[in-house]
Amino acid sequence: LTFLGLESSCDDTAAAIVRLRDDTPEILSSVVAGQTELHAPYGGVVPEIAARAHAEKLDLCVEEALSQAGIGIEDLDGIAVTAGPGLIGGVMSGVMCAKGIAAGAGLPLVGVNHLAGHALTPRLTDALAYPYLMLLVSGGHCQFLIAHGPEEFTRLGGTIDDAPGEAFDKAAKLMALPQPGGPAVEAEARSGDPKAFAFPRPLLDRPGCDMSFSGLKTALLRARDQVVAEHGGLPRAVRADLCASFQQAVADVLVEKSRRALTDYLTHAPAHPAFAVAGGVAANSAIRAGLETVSREMGVEFRAPPLRLCTDNAAMIAWAGIERFRLGARDGMNLMARPRWPLDQSAAPLLGSGK
Ligand code: ATP
Ligand code: FE
Repeated sequence: LTFLGLESSCDDTAAAIVRLRDDTPEILSSVVAGQTELHAPYGGVVPEIAARAHAEKLDLCVEEALSQAGIGIEDLDGIAVTAGPGLIGGVMSGVMCAKGIAAGAGLPLVGVNHLAGHALTPRLTDALAYPYLMLLVSGGHCQFLIAHGPEEFTRLGGTIDDAPGEAFDKAAKLMALPQPGGPAVEAEARSGDPKAFAFPRPLLDRPGCDMSFSGLKTALLRARDQVVAEHGGLPRAVRADLCASFQQAVADVLVEKSRRALTDYLTHAPAHPAFAVAGGVAANSAIRAGLETVSREMGVEFRAPPLRLCTDNAAMIAWAGIERFRLGARDGMNLMARPRWPLDQSAAPLLGSGK
């Protein structure tokens, strides 16, 4: 089975070819065209600019993905496209492009939930067996899921306000560091002391897997203002301490809540217990190390896919499409772009279905 995947739900236009042969998936190509510079002047993703850029770049990304894979459209068995959740203009651009190719080439079309794409990545990279525990931790999301199958997820809990990636991005702004904030804060934290500032660990005193990160950002703001008032500026060394302490607080919350999620997951008695993390924040080595340690303590295999497959890409969409296709999923020309699409509603949204 050879699938083309398309992704355009946020600020990355992506196309990829994934082939499944003898039960082993292989990424033949994965093209990602970012839009960071386009949105940089505005300090955030501008939906209208994103949609236009997707519409301009999708065709080129598809051509590039086919050419890098060394195949033609006639070699494809299907097309998978992100049908949501995300910025509606971008998702529509992708869905329209996929419909056009599917109709023109007479190929099956499979709509994919972007979050399912992230959540199924460890099966593409590490062939994890169901059920496995998943922590999806990105710029827009933070949730624990048990993946029972390609369309079957149980949500154990998640953030009640900001996502950690968003918190890292805001922290970088407060520290006058460049965007995306995660890598910048992590680099700065390397020379800092994670114990220098006592930031809160929100919701750790409450049972369950829900998390909160917005208070942490406020605490960082206050600490920064106090430092600036004392020193008349933000000395480099103190900034490193602030970043290290902030990162440690995020890591501590994620690790402790992972311990609880793992305990819950293990009651399902999985034959091959495994815990995977995905999303851009999974790139953070302090967070990764913490998650790895707690997994080892609980006798669960830990997996973190390579960074390029943790952030938005189309290989995960092609793969999720293949998994759905193998279950018999097919979408028609009535496949609809959906800005909101919770993971527990797994069927792709259809035009005129009233959903
Ligand atoms: P979503 O997939 O939820 O719509 P997104 O596309 O913004 O959100 P990703 O592309 O998966 O998310 O990840 C981007 C986020 O990951 C950014 O917020 C970025 O700051 C964060 N991030 C990237 N690298 C690191 C790092 N080393 N440490 C912490 N955060 C990081
Ligand atoms: Fe994403």
